[in-house]
Parts: sequence; C-alpha cells; structure tokens
Amino acid sequence: MTTLKPETPASSVCSHTPTCPSVDASARDAAHVIAAHPEQGWSLLCNGIVLFEDFGELLPSGESCAARWHDLLMASPHR
Ligand SMILES: [Zn+2]
Repeated sequence: MTTLKPETPASSVCSHTPTCPSVDASARDAAHVIAAHPEQGWSLLCNGIVLFEDFGELLPSGESCAARWHDLLMASPHR
C-alpha cells in the first residue's frame, strides 16, 4: 500500500497479478479479500467492495446490493 501511483483511482488500487476485477466487473466478487472479519460477517475486497457472509455487497460508492448467491449459482457452469 506504500507504492500507490498518484494517478491510480482509490477505487481500483490493486497490486495483484492478474489485477482483481473492478467494481464494474461481473466477477467483482472474485477480487482478493484484503481484510476478513468473519466474526462480524463481512470481508473487504481488494476493489473496495464490502462482501457480507450472505453475499450481500456494499460498493465503494455506497450502493448496496442484495445477496447475489442465487445469481452466482445460476452463472455456474456446473448447474
Ligand atoms: Zn487486488
């Protein structure tokens, strides 16, 4: 976190390779977890999303999304 480039938007700070999905990406839930708080039921993803244990999301913009687990299951190639 000490090598941030000045031109890098705060919402897309990522030092992983490959780069984590952005907030706008359909696979945004696949971003790395950079802060996990299982005792509180949420995790902070690399792209700034707060992911709750029921797969609800709180986006960096403050927008909240309902649990997507059903969508994720539907998108699985195994179903
Ligand atoms: Zn990342």
